[in-house]
Amino acid sequence: MLRRAIPLALLLPGLAALTACGERTTPESAPELVPALAVMLAAADDAAALPASAARKQLTYSGALTQGGWINGIAPVGTRSLRLGETEVPLAADGRFFAAFDRDAGGSAELVAELADGSQHSEALTIAPRAWNIEHINVARRPGGASEAFLERRRPELAAIYAAREKDSGAQGWRQSFIWPVKGRISGRFGSQRIYRGEPGSYHSGLDIAPGAGTPFVAPADGVVVLAAEQEFSLEGKLLIIDHGQGLNSAFLHASALAVKEGDRVRQGQHIGNVGASGRATGPHLHWSLKWRDARLDPLLFLDPQA
Ligand SMILES: [Zn+2]
Repeated sequence: MLRRAIPLALLLPGLAALTACGERTTPESAPELVPALAVMLAAADDAAALPASAARKQLTYSGALTQGGWINGIAPVGTRSLRLGETEVPLAADGRFFAAFDRDAGGSAELVAELADGSQHSEALTIAPRAWNIEHINVARRPGGASEAFLERRRPELAAIYAAREKDSGAQGWRQSFIWPVKGRISGRFGSQRIYRGEPGSYHSGLDIAPGAGTPFVAPADGVVVLAAEQEFSLEGKLLIIDHGQGLNSAFLHASALAVKEGDRVRQGQHIGNVGASGRATGPHLHWSLKWRDARLDPLLFLDPQA
């Protein structure tokens, strides 16, 4: 059945596995982000220009080395396996790789390449902390304890999301510079969190963009549709999950309509759905979340703010 190997921890606190986001309607600012972004994206362009074969003796990488950020790089010739901390990093046939840092990643991480000749290359990465938008609220957190009826409905939804994110479609979108799925007012930022009398609520797991109901949105990078929930999920509503390959995937929540179905291969810029307020949402918006393996990432760090 659907309950098979899914860790309980994923199911219970995970009532908000993709985290519905209807509460946040006020624009939040994160001024610390923007100046740093241009530099990071410039560095990413350099990575794209790295020689693919010539004397690849070192680990080379660039990206957004910050909480919720990512790196793209090339492993030395002869690399047999690569890992970031304890997490295995998939290696493409041409030696390129993608890895990323969770919202709550610690200040450093080690990237280690094991070579076929038994040697090891390692790089100590410094992961810059972020100044998350934390709001302290002097009210008690709403008591948990969802109803049994809700949990019954929720379990298979979470199982479907979990299973979709485990799929590896071989998509190559992880190599691309991402584009905005839709432009519009940003109504909620990744990572923001409320603390209720000292007790943290779950943080906002994606970027909310509110361009108006019915506005088409597009694939930010190439991928394969691994979940297309025409039948609304209780929190996410009409939900799309797109695999970009190498463990990186996007989820789009609250759509009013989906333009693709499971198994479809989509190209960057292709219309995939329309903005809505399905599921738990107080108004029409697109909630876009990005994950690499278990790490939750900040979509803004994948985008060129000038674009
Ligand atoms: Zn949201």
